[in-house]
Amino acid sequence: MRNFGVVLEEMANVKPTLIQSYPMIGGDGPHSYLRNSTYQKAAIESVRAKIKETILAKLGLKTTKLDLNTYKIADFGCSVGSNTLDVIQNIIETLKLKHQQEETKGNNHEHLEFHVFFNDQTDNDFNTLFKTLPRYHLDREIFACGVPGSFYRRLFPRNSLHIGHTSNTLVWLSTTPEDVCNRNSQAWNKNSILCTNLVEQVTEAYRNQFKKDMRAFIAARAQELVPGGLMIILGLCLPDGVQMIRTWKGVVYDMIRDCLIDMAKSGIIKEEKVESFKLPIYFPQFSELKEVIEQNGCFSIEVMEEVKHPMEDMPFTDGFIISMFRAMLHGFIEEHFGGGVVDELFDRFGKKSTRDRSIYSRASQKDMQYFILLKKKIDRS
Ligand code: SAH
Repeated sequence: MRNFGVVLEEMANVKPTLIQSYPMIGGDGPHSYLRNSTYQKAAIESVRAKIKETILAKLGLKTTKLDLNTYKIADFGCSVGSNTLDVIQNIIETLKLKHQQEETKGNNHEHLEFHVFFNDQTDNDFNTLFKTLPRYHLDREIFACGVPGSFYRRLFPRNSLHIGHTSNTLVWLSTTPEDVCNRNSQAWNKNSILCTNLVEQVTEAYRNQFKKDMRAFIAARAQELVPGGLMIILGLCLPDGVQMIRTWKGVVYDMIRDCLIDMAKSGIIKEEKVESFKLPIYFPQFSELKEVIEQNGCFSIEVMEEVKHPMEDMPFTDGFIISMFRAMLHGFIEEHFGGGVVDELFDRFGKKSTRDRSIYSRASQKDMQYFILLKKKIDRS
């Protein structure tokens, strides 16, 4: 038996990997994620029935060795607002239905209870999240708690979760790859603020970081889920061969960069600061995503498919795009440039997009929404 003190000392000596944290705008104000996540909400809504159908079909109540009739459910990267609550409600309703169906087959199940874990980065506005939670405690069957920390690490004990869920999260890397910020590297991302897929060395640097992060995410969940437990993943990627710069989101990021350059020219921000502004965001190609998931032998891939985003063909108003990107990028921009820049930046963005209406005419390809359901293999406890 190892001495606990020694273990603690060893833990303290491990050099932590740099994990950057840029939560969405908290609170419930006009620019908050809570009020500006309609696009993400629509994505969640588009797989509501699919989640229900796949849990009913794939969850084996006997194999998950459910103790004390308590389900443990986690939402990784929950942010603030009704999106995470909708997801959890759907999962709980489905589990209840699953048990009712089993009862009609003669299996007796006692009253179910649900332990729900809301995970996000430490800086996430958990206060607002908790204030907006339905009054779970009144019915005494749902017990909620917050779990702060990066989902690229272990967050739960081994074999402790029955269902994990994450949506609209995994394009956020744990960090921007170092080389894309380094002027002397061949992977220096001189002309963009994220991976456009125009320069192979840049793409490779982002791809390597993505693979590293995704492997870590899957490995952590493989330890946390009980054998037979399910992991639901909803997110965005690119169909193979599509370049980020050709999608409407790629065009938006490009326009944000142009506005930053204009602001530097006007002396509002420093040129070097614009040069070093590189987002830790990467849209993987579908096959890259599949490869990483397949590499981890702990899960069977039960479903991995494209799901059309309900708003895919909708030309958005400038106001909609501005609110959406502002709620997502505010934290990162403020941290890099300091306060007060966000208003000016999105004001310029609005004027620019109204002037040249170029977002949709410049976008010739589409990104892709995917839905994945993984099941932890029974022999991997
Ligand atoms: N799941 C919600 C929120 C998506 S926004 C929805 O679908 O609407 C993306 C969220 O992922 C943000 O709240 C962000 O803080 C969180 N996130 C990004 N990287 C993370 C990490 N490494 N660990 C935990 N949360 C992370």
